[in-house]
Amino acid sequence: MTAGIGALDLEEAGAVLAAESARFASFGWMRGTSGNLSVVLSRDPLRLAVTASGRDKGELTAADVVLVDGRGAAVQGGRPSAEAELHARVAALTGAGAVVHVHTVAAVAMGCRAPGGIVFRDLEMLKGVGQPAHDVDVVLPVIANSQDMTELGDRLEAARNPRMPAVVVAGHGLYVWGADPRQARHHTEVVEWLLELELAGT
Ligand SMILES: [Zn+2]
Repeated sequence: MTAGIGALDLEEAGAVLAAESARFASFGWMRGTSGNLSVVLSRDPLRLAVTASGRDKGELTAADVVLVDGRGAAVQGGRPSAEAELHARVAALTGAGAVVHVHTVAAVAMGCRAPGGIVFRDLEMLKGVGQPAHDVDVVLPVIANSQDMTELGDRLEAARNPRMPAVVVAGHGLYVWGADPRQARHHTEVVEWLLELELAGT
């Protein structure tokens, strides 16, 4: 995947992330101040713009963004989410240019129901995450939650399915990534649709 969305500065990235956050918040996927989004601004050294911590994700402005390094530590701006470290880890590990983290009911419920991984098959919607629609089991990994982001990153790295741009964190939510914010959004919406379908018990 390519690195981020090119020559965005931090404020431009903040505007993109604010718009994406407002969309996800409108779906009820970022209740309270939960969840966070990021976009890669440079690859070497790795720098990401991440949504600021503790803000209502339906009300972010272009200024509600923090520049972090490859360990999720702030380089410029206010306080990043503790989860910024995992965003940086995902970007480094997968080559993704954007990462979405949302707390959805379907992700938590299905993570509880299928702690060994959620299997999808024979669904047209699987094409939306680059998978065959027929005759192949597609596994969405589920990892145990942790407050230690390094530990959580280790679990994600060990469990991830290179063909599936997403991981469910049990009792917590969903991490999804893509080449840029638009693709990460599409992947998020597709994975959430698949989770909602499974939850519906079809
Ligand atoms: Zn979270």
